[in-house]
Amino acid sequence: MARDKITLACPECAERNYHQTKNKRLHPERVEYVKFCPRCRTHTPHKETK
Ligand SMILES: [Zn+2]
Repeated sequence: MARDKITLACPECAERNYHQTKNKRLHPERVEYVKFCPRCRTHTPHKETK
């Protein structure tokens, strides 16, 4: 299985809060997950960045 490391960043403050892997075959596009941002102290739709 080809799983790639991705970083999830908050769109509000640009803080990189999460690291995880994803399967590129299942998600060829950039993924987005609603995660808690400790800096904004709320949930924001974190986006995949490099
Ligand atoms: Zn934030």
